[in-house]
Amino acid sequence: MNIVLLGAPGAGKGTQAEKMVKEYNVPHVSTGDIFRKAVSDKTEMGIKAKAYMDRGELVPDEIVIGIVKERLMTDEFKDGFILDGFPRTVAQADALAFSLGEMGKKLDMVLSIDVDKEELIQRLTGRRVCNCGKTYHMVFNPPRKDEICDECGEPLKQRDDDKIETVNKRLDVYFNQTLPLINYYKNNGLLRVIDGRKSASDVFEEIRGVIGVYK
Ligand code: ADP
Ligand code: AMP
Repeated sequence: MNIVLLGAPGAGKGTQAEKMVKEYNVPHVSTGDIFRKAVSDKTEMGIKAKAYMDRGELVPDEIVIGIVKERLMTDEFKDGFILDGFPRTVAQADALAFSLGEMGKKLDMVLSIDVDKEELIQRLTGRRVCNCGKTYHMVFNPPRKDEICDECGEPLKQRDDDKIETVNKRLDVYFNQTLPLINYYKNNGLLRVIDGRKSASDVFEEIRGVIGVYK
């Protein structure tokens, strides 16, 4: 199963990817997670990426494309993948199709998780994350104890780019640079639109239905 999760920041891509990994036993690649790890490890790529991320802009295509290609070529992804946060530009989508072709693979479907802007702002500004990888929302999915991770007991944090100033910029970037991918994947028949405004478990049921029909 080779799947792309498309959707604005805050649409619930990471939340659904976590459920899909459990259900289908397919590995997940999040380019946002790759960059955040590189930033925290202070690698050369992380230092370059940080400047763009702090401004809410996209990291340049030539950096992102190389990283994803390298990942997808590893053995871990030989039986499938769920891509989250990539592609985000038409150039990235073209590069993905080309690289998969070189590997004798192709995408099976692109799930576009659709959520309106007002809800996206609420989801992003209320998101809290833990270093262990768990994601919460202070209203929609709060931790049992205030701002403490249920799984590991560490204090939760707000991502710097989830502050309202950067959120607005990231949403503009999504509508200008990533939205054209909806038509791109509609035109090549891969697009499946998912109503992302429902609860996380209802969204997942819809995804299961779409994947089930496909299978
Ligand atoms: P993305 O990976 O697309 O940026 P996330 O999966 O991190 O989005 O979700 C953004 C925020 O919204 C998180 O705080 C998450 O807990 C919350 N969230 C995700 N899906 C839903 C949903 N269906 N309803 C309400 N809140 C949600
Ligand atoms: P995300 O966690 O997906 O919201 O990504 C966080 C940030 O990482 C984005 O705002 C971008 O700066 C950067 N990023 C993640 N994926 C990509 C991508 N495919 N292309 C360019 N920049 C990306």
